[in-house]
Formats: sequence, C-alpha cells, structure tokens
Amino acid sequence: MVNGQIRLTLQDALTFLYGWSHWHRVVSANPKYYPGKSLFLKGLKAAEKGLMSPCRKTVIHLVKLGKCVSCGLPVPEGSGDHVIPISKGGTQSVENYIPLCRKCNSSKGSKDFLEWWISQGRQIEALNHDALIVYLRLKHRFFLNERTRLAPWYICEAVRQARRIMPRFWIAKKECEAYSLLPLNVTETRYQKLPLGVKFQ
Ligand SMILES: [Zn+2]
Repeated sequence: MVNGQIRLTLQDALTFLYGWSHWHRVVSANPKYYPGKSLFLKGLKAAEKGLMSPCRKTVIHLVKLGKCVSCGLPVPEGSGDHVIPISKGGTQSVENYIPLCRKCNSSKGSKDFLEWWISQGRQIEALNHDALIVYLRLKHRFFLNERTRLAPWYICEAVRQARRIMPRFWIAKKECEAYSLLPLNVTETRYQKLPLGVKFQ
C-alpha cells in the first residue's frame, strides 16, 4: 500500500476480486452464517479456471431476469450496454453485454462498467455478483497481454473496498505470499471472531 492506495497487477486484482466474490456471495445471502477463510481461499483457487471460462451463460441469465443490474428496474430485452466499451478494448460479443435501464445506460456512457460503478461512489459489495463475475472474466480476456501491468485505479479501489469488509487476519502474510496478494501492511494473524459488517481500514 502506498499512501493508503493499493497497487496491484491486473492479474492479482482480478484474482482477488474473483475469490472475494465467491466468499461474499455466500456471506451476503446468509447473514447468520460465518464462513471460515477457506471459502475465500477456495474462491482464489477457483479463479484460476474461472477467469478463463466464458461468461455467455451468466449474461443470458442476467438478460432473462429482465432487470437493470445497477438499479433493479425492469428493462426491456435488448436495453443495455457494453461492459467494456469497444473504444476501451471490448468486443461486440454477447458476453460483453449487460442489461441496464435507459437512465443507468446513459449515465454509464462510454465508461468501463466498473469504472462507472466506482466513480459514482458506489461500493463493490453492492454490485450484483453475476455482473461482477462477467466483468472480471471479460477484463481478464480482453486484457490478456496487460495482466502484469498495474491495475487501473477503479479496480484497485474495488479491491480496497472488498478487503475492508473482510476480517484482516484472513489475509495473513503466508496467503499473501502464496497468491501474491497485498503483501504490505498486514500484521494481524491472530484469530478473532468478528461480527459481519465490521469494517477495516
Ligand atoms: Zn438502472
């Protein structure tokens, strides 16, 4: 961490968010369930294959739901936008499509989907899990050659937000080393059971 900012390669940031999403999907659906960190580590492992998998089925599922992934309003079929704009390396494929209502669509404009989400001041934990997975897979695929570069600010910010709602001890030094994740500034490894919703800086 440099001046409170997280700096990660695109590959590490996408892997972290994939693992986090795996964990957060379960936690947020079961507020009384307090899973161990194995769920997060399982998610990191799943990211190896997961980030390589196509996301067509998830996109079709989102389209069938007929709801804006941003505000939840019903959207007519075909109303949506590119997850990653063509001008920023996206393609015209079905996978690069996200259902958005007219209002959200025009607010997003030609921004990258996550860049748009984060720059509105919205939190990563409020983002639809399927939409996040679609985003991570696409970003991984379209930026294959840039995975060792530093992740853009909005992805780093998403990681910071995601990490903040995880108990700090989960990201112990040895895991950081094993997954080359956020190795700095992590000292607490003692087990501490914490109520959900406790935020860490
Ligand atoms: Zn909307």
